[in-house]
Parts: sequence; C-alpha cells; structure tokens
Amino acid sequence: MSTTTHNFDYDLFVIGAGSGGVRAGRMAAGYGAKVAVAEDRYMGGTCVNVGCVPKKLYVYASQFSHAFDDARGFGWDASLPNFNWDTLRDNKKTEISRLNGIYDGMLGNAGVTVLNGRARFIDAHTVEVNGQQHSAQRIVIATGGWPFVPDIPGRELAVSSNEIFDLEHFPKRVIVVGGGYIAVEFACIFNGLGADTTQLYRGPLFLRGFDEDVRQFAAEEIAKSGVKLQFNNNISAIEKQADGSLLAQLEDGSSLACDAILYATGRKPHLQDLGLEHVDIALTDSGTIKVNEQFQTSTDHIYALGDVTGGMELTPVALAEGMALAKTLYNNEPSSVDYDNIATAVFCQPTIGTCGLSEQQAQEKYGEITVYESNFRAMKHTLGGRQERTYMKLIVDKASDKVVGVHMVGDEAGEIIQGIAIAMKAGATKAQFDSTIGIHPTAAEEFVTMRSPRA
Ligand code: FAD
Ligand code: NDP
Repeated sequence: MSTTTHNFDYDLFVIGAGSGGVRAGRMAAGYGAKVAVAEDRYMGGTCVNVGCVPKKLYVYASQFSHAFDDARGFGWDASLPNFNWDTLRDNKKTEISRLNGIYDGMLGNAGVTVLNGRARFIDAHTVEVNGQQHSAQRIVIATGGWPFVPDIPGRELAVSSNEIFDLEHFPKRVIVVGGGYIAVEFACIFNGLGADTTQLYRGPLFLRGFDEDVRQFAAEEIAKSGVKLQFNNNISAIEKQADGSLLAQLEDGSSLACDAILYATGRKPHLQDLGLEHVDIALTDSGTIKVNEQFQTSTDHIYALGDVTGGMELTPVALAEGMALAKTLYNNEPSSVDYDNIATAVFCQPTIGTCGLSEQQAQEKYGEITVYESNFRAMKHTLGGRQERTYMKLIVDKASDKVVGVHMVGDEAGEIIQGIAIAMKAGATKAQFDSTIGIHPTAAEEFVTMRSPRA
C-alpha cells in the first residue's frame, strides 16, 4: 500500500539508476511505495555501462590470446588470429544497449516513474529534474562515484575508465597509472589484447590492502605474462608528439612513448551539481556521504547508499544496501548489511579471489593464527606450456579453528572463492574444510587438502 500523504508526489525519490538505486527503487515499488528514479546518464549506472559488465567482456576478449597459445601444446595447429578492436567495442556497445533497455523495463514494470535528467535538491523534500519539481517523503542519494585523475600537466591527454572502453583506435602501446582494482585489471586486459603495456604504481607494491603474499605473487605472475610493471614510479607530465602519440615524463627522469594513458587512480563520490547546499548532509573526511547503519544521512528522511557512501565499492554491496533499505522502509522488516566476509575478485590474469582477512589483519585481530598455503602449476599449463602458477592460502584462527581468510591467485579464482565465502559465512572450521571431499582434478580441491601449516 502506498504511504504517500497528499503533501508529497512520491513516497520515495531515488537519485541515480545505478546498482544501488535501481535495486532500492524497484523493491520499494514492489512493496507498494510510489517511487521515482532520476538518472541523467545511463540506466544501470557504472557497473552496467563503464564498470563490471564491459570490463568482464574485455577480460574474456583478452584471455583468448593466452588460450590460442595454450592450444598448440594440445595439438591445435593454430597461428594467432588477428584481434579487431572495433568489433569488440561495437559488440560491447550493442550488449550494453540491450542491458540499458532491460533496466529501464525492470523499473517500468515495477511501477517506478523513470525521470531522465539530472536531479538537484531544492530543499529537503524537493528535487528538481529538467526544470520540474518533485516532492517526496523520503529521498535516496545513490549517485555513485566518478574517476579521479590527479592534476598533472597534460592530464587532458589521458583517459579514465569512463572513456577507455570506447577508444576510437586500439592503442598499441598503453600506460596504466595506479595500483588498485581497475589499474591491475586493465593492464592485464590490454596486455592480453596484444598491446605493449606498462603499469606504473607510485608505491613499492600494488594492490595495497590485499594480503601481502597475494600482492607479491600476483605481481610476479602478471609480470611473467608480459605486463611491464614499474613500481615506485609515476607520471609527472604528458605531452602530445607530432605523430599524435603521447610522451609520458616519469618521476624517475625517464620518459615513455605510448598511444594511450589510462588513469585508474581511484574514484570520488559523485556529488557535483546535486544541490547539496540546499540540504543538511554531513560528509566524512574523505568526502563521502556519512550514513548510519540504516543508511540515514544527517537529515533523517534523506538516505544514501552505494559508492557515494564509500566503504566497499562493489556492485553486490550496493545491491544489498538497496535491498536492506527497501525492506526496512516499506516491508516492515528492519534490515542492515553484514560487511564481514564479503568475497571479491580482481579480474587480472591470473585472477585474484579473496574473502575475509589478510594474514596481517588476522594476526592483528586473533593473535595466534595458522597459515596454510599451496603454490603449484595448474594441470592445464603442463601441456599448454604456460609457466603461470597458482597460489592458495588459508588463514585459521588457532583458538576457534575457524577459517578467517581465504585467498587465491589463479584461473577462475572469482568463481572458486564465491563458494568458499558461503562456508566462511557459515563459520566453517579448518576441520570442516579437511573433512570435505575434493573434486578431482581441479585447482579448487587444494582448498580442502592443505594439511601442513606453513612453518
Ligand atoms: P553507480 O552504479 O555509479 O550509479 C550511480 C548513478 O547515478 C549513475 O548512473 C549516475 O549517472 C547517476 N547520477 C549521478 N548523479 C546524478 C544526479 N544528480 N541525477 C541523476 N542521476 C545521477 N564492482 C564489482 O562488484 N565487480 C566488478 O567487477 C567491478 N568492476 C568495476 C570496473 C570499473 C571500471 C569500475 C569503474 C567499477 C567497477 N565496479 C565493480 C564497482 C561498481 O561498478 C560500483 O561499486 C557500483 O556501480 C556502485 O553502484 P552505485 O549504485 O553506488 O553507483
Ligand atoms: P582504488 O582505490 O582501488 O585504487 C586507486 C589506485 O590509484 C591506488 O593504487 C592508489 O595508490 C592510486 N593513486 C591514487 N591517487 C594517485 C595519484 N595521485 N597518483 C598516482 N596514483 C594514485 O581505485 P580504482 O580506481 O582502481 O577502483 C575504484 C573502486 O572500484 C575499487 O576500490 C573497487 O572497490 C571498485 N572496483 C571493483 C572491481 C572488482 O570488483 N573487480 C573492479 C574495478 C573497480 P595508493 O594505493 O598508494 O593509495
């Protein structure tokens, strides 16, 4: 049943049709609320348009070069076929347009009013879109994030993850700046697609925050696969050369010529031109919107969720938050999100999958821990000839025997860790891992056969 009083046009007004906004709006409408969702750029938000989905499609594309190489050892007399960037880019566009339609339809079918345009606060109960004002009892800010590119000379010559998918020409030489998820994934994508790829990271080792062994192992394998990793280095300026290519001046005094520079140096909350000056919304020190466990901002009836609130910037997290909010507000089912043991994958090659604590975090939290690890060459690579290795690690709290951290660097790590995350959520102990019969021959079986703790 709609709870709209006569004073408001809507029960709930959602700003942003990304992962979190669509889920919150659709579910709230399903519970009977009168809902509007405003979106000024693309249905489905970052994940569908310039994030998870196109990224994964490009990861698949880039894996073929390795597979063609592997095939020879299995008897396939294959020479490496040509890669056509235009085909990949244009097929991706078609698929994303299809998904945009699905998202639009999903909201429409749920009875949500979709407003195409930028939403700006007029006051704490009123939002303007395309010159028209809409009042709402409650408002959700789900505006996501936006790439941050540091202000260096020539910055306008670089691209961010927003543009990288749609480059007009395939860059034969690419520099990727940054050491987080996006940088590592795209360095591997361009390397796999055949570009001469250099990744620059300002610190001593990329993927800060991940388990130290995972970082080290991933760096070795990614370097082996052909990405030129330069740590403790950064770009100080970018210039355009006469032939249209780019020249990056590096902080170590050297320079690097290339055809494209991707800056993957983090994302900032998307709060520009939102009319926040008309409402009382407190921000955190890092500029994200401050919320409590029920996603309330400092104005009780204005909520925020997803990337705009910081935390784990992942689609499933935004979805869970949208769902929890809708249940709380419109289904009489107070809900929050449990942020422990959220599994995540970095789709680099080989892939990183991780759930729970790093060894360093576990040590700090539990004091006495036991570490199990395995490092092997996957069976597929014996005939394929690839030198790539797989790494797996289990971290166990000694007192309770609970598995508190699981990490993998290897083929399909994302697929494998998802199942392990269920066991961890259920509080599985190492003894229960040990009593689980493996599936042979797989890499995943290693997780239930590691018997000897690391010395
Ligand atoms: P968004 O999806 O960003 O949606 C916000 C929406 O609000 C946007 O559509 C925007 O146009 C709209 N908007 C903003 N301001 C206004 C306004 N004033 N009026 C109207 N509309 C507005 N996560 C994963 O879990 N797995 C992955 O593999 C993964 N890969 C990624 C790869 C890349 C390159 C990037 C950039 C991100 C990736 N992410 C991934 C992260 C994931 O995309 C985000 O965590 C997720 O999209 C956050 O959802 P959201 O609803 O908070 O915001
Ligand atoms: P991250 O915050 O993960 O990484 C940003 C990187 O840029 C860090 O290595 C950081 O270095 C570096 N950096 C920051 N500022 C500068 C600077 N001025 N000069 C040079 N380097 C700089 O951001 P991403 O952009 O990679 O991704 C954003 C978020 O999107 C991720 O955190 C993740 O939550 C999500 N995402 C998830 C994916 C997945 O699930 N597979 C894939 C892609 C994105 P330092 O470490 O030293 O601070």
